[in-house]
Amino acid sequence: MSKGRLICVSNRIPSGPNPSGGLVVALHDTLLETGGIWIGTSGKLAETAGNALHEVEGGPFRRMAFDLTEQEQENYYFGFSNQVLWPLFHGRTDLMEIHAEYLSAYKDVNRRLAKMLIDVIEPDDRIWVHDYHLLPLALYLRQAGAKNRIGFFLHTPFPTPLALQAMPNAPEVCEWLSNYEVVGMQAERDARACIASMIELGGGEELAGGFVQLNNRQCRIAAFPVAIDATEFRTLAESEVDKLPRGIVKPERRLMIGVDRLDYTKGVPQRFKAFGEFLERHEEWHRHVSMLQISPPTREGVEAYDNIREETELLSGQINGRYADIQWAPIRFINRPVPRETLAGLYRASDVALVTPLMDGMNLVAKEFIAAQDPADPGVLILSQFAGAAEQMPDAVIVNPHDTEQMATAIMTSLAMPLVDRKRRHAALMETIVKKDVSWWSKGFRTALG
Ligand code: UDP
Repeated sequence: MSKGRLICVSNRIPSGPNPSGGLVVALHDTLLETGGIWIGTSGKLAETAGNALHEVEGGPFRRMAFDLTEQEQENYYFGFSNQVLWPLFHGRTDLMEIHAEYLSAYKDVNRRLAKMLIDVIEPDDRIWVHDYHLLPLALYLRQAGAKNRIGFFLHTPFPTPLALQAMPNAPEVCEWLSNYEVVGMQAERDARACIASMIELGGGEELAGGFVQLNNRQCRIAAFPVAIDATEFRTLAESEVDKLPRGIVKPERRLMIGVDRLDYTKGVPQRFKAFGEFLERHEEWHRHVSMLQISPPTREGVEAYDNIREETELLSGQINGRYADIQWAPIRFINRPVPRETLAGLYRASDVALVTPLMDGMNLVAKEFIAAQDPADPGVLILSQFAGAAEQMPDAVIVNPHDTEQMATAIMTSLAMPLVDRKRRHAALMETIVKKDVSWWSKGFRTALG
């Protein structure tokens, strides 16, 4: 590996000492191990667009940031990133809001960031760009003269060539990507979709070993499934489970848990419907099982997010209204963030996790839940076939989140699963997530970047 520093660039640098969110946790662990600099927006807004990065004090590694203007936040962040790319990359083309000013602000912010980065990077540095907010960054860095090795990792899924054509500028997206030496995807399905798009829409040529040649550049596209520090998380769960408030775990009642930002990709309404169907079918389970759904708000103010919140509240209210009695409410819906260490304890105390996104890059909650279990009496993971994690975790109970009846059956199967089956599935899943942990992920990508 090269001697230079690792420069990680993502939309946002982490603000507090306790990382949360898939990307933040994975990068935090990487930078703790390698050192380097993390660069991104500060989370503050400025009156005018600046032209230099500023140091952010504190924290276990160096951080540098820049402020967005209000207009940039509106058009680059909420606009192009979260109302064009996010829905498109998650198969929700119906929710895309295409506006020319979104795309031009997206390019402008990436161009501005490239110019500021040029003043910071040294020739030996390797630059690792993260996520869909920054797809064109390498192109603008090259235009500004950077010769460094630049890698890109996409934390979301990648659309098929057919879906990508819903973009106003699909061929340009392929050109953006071709300026990276390595383009990392979460899953094989995404790497295949990206290669196909580069060829069919970008006019690239497929070479051996996952390389694509486009505009005289060769770019390698491969899957690097993001991961957690499973051993550390297991230790955290062991100590946190005893600190949970009394009454969360009741001997006479099974606990099912769901943890997802309140995003329309996470399939929370579908999950509630399946639980409702299960309760309808199995009166014998009434009062003996409850679901704890932790869903912190995200991207508030975007219409699709306001709608999903209303739908989720309505459904949980309907199910509780129908089945609750004075001693029991089937669903506890928590619409605020819970610290990761408390989550670790809650996972360990739970009998079943429902990780049922309609589409998800990886889903770290699935891995955290497995890491947190007591191997002598483990809980069961119900996992959507559309989470990137499903490629690595075939020993979970795999479901189609659109199929309410199948999910209701999976809940029954999981609650009734004999200990011997639970142990076998858990051992197989744990083996993978310990072997392919966050340091394996980050080393794999950095080695590919060279
Ligand atoms: N998380 C958290 N508090 C919460 C909800 C989630 O710390 O209230 C963490 C969770 O433990 C996991 C991450 O946020 O590490 C979510 O990552 P995931 O890949 O599942 O989903 P993303 O939010 O990145 O789409």
